[in-house]
Amino acid sequence: MSDTTHFGFREVEEKQKAKLVAEVFTSVASKYDVMNDVMSAGMHRLWKRHFVSQARIQPGFRILDLAGGTGDITKLMAEQVGDSGHVVLSDINAAMLAHGRDRMLDEAPFGRISVAQVNAEALPFAARSFDLVTIAFGLRNVTDKAKALREMHRVLKIGAKVMVLEFSELRIQALKPLYDLYSFKILPRMGQLIAGDAASYQYLAESIRRHPNQEELASTLRESGFENVQVHNLFGGMVAIHTGYSV
Ligand code: SAM
Repeated sequence: MSDTTHFGFREVEEKQKAKLVAEVFTSVASKYDVMNDVMSAGMHRLWKRHFVSQARIQPGFRILDLAGGTGDITKLMAEQVGDSGHVVLSDINAAMLAHGRDRMLDEAPFGRISVAQVNAEALPFAARSFDLVTIAFGLRNVTDKAKALREMHRVLKIGAKVMVLEFSELRIQALKPLYDLYSFKILPRMGQLIAGDAASYQYLAESIRRHPNQEELASTLRESGFENVQVHNLFGGMVAIHTGYSV
């Protein structure tokens, strides 16, 4: 019998998950940015700015932005690496990257950015080649998270940092009913109205609930070889930043 994993609340065969995730992001790619603004009331921009501000980027850094989608994080980091630095905007999904590349051409210092279609679980980069690896709102969608984290560890230089920005477990009990109402009743309707796709936003809400919580993800980082793992909650844990160092 083949191994199973979760896709939102559904149990699916492991080998099916990447295809189902690809369908979600191919479907929403053209409306991805506007949906992020609407469904988070613009908050995702603050979370992302805060995330990048914690990265302590130096001019000359070589950075890998995994599951970078339409490039919000890449763009912010490219502004900080200087002309001697470089950011690789990478994602498994061609439609998301195509939108990202178009936006980068207009908005970002494009000479500092390259675009690569890659699976976070099997990185086509040399060991010890990056000063920083980021993955924002991406790890949740990866089938084998530990494998992806081991790959991140491999491509980081010794002493360099991984940063994971992801939805996590809300720690304010009183807000949970409201959060559930918003996630499962309102979000899919917004998805239908704006992106013509309720199911993908139902998946978003479900995938957040199935994602490892703060402590579980911190353990997986440690098991993947990272040291000095730290967790920083934003919005009462609705979103969390995990960091760890490659040794
Ligand atoms: N980082 C961007 C942001 O914060 O706006 C995009 C996040 S989007 C919610 C999740 C992205 O993860 C999608 O673009 C999807 O294609 C990508 N993704 C899913 N599985 C992946 C994998 N195995 N390897 C690389 N990217 C993956």
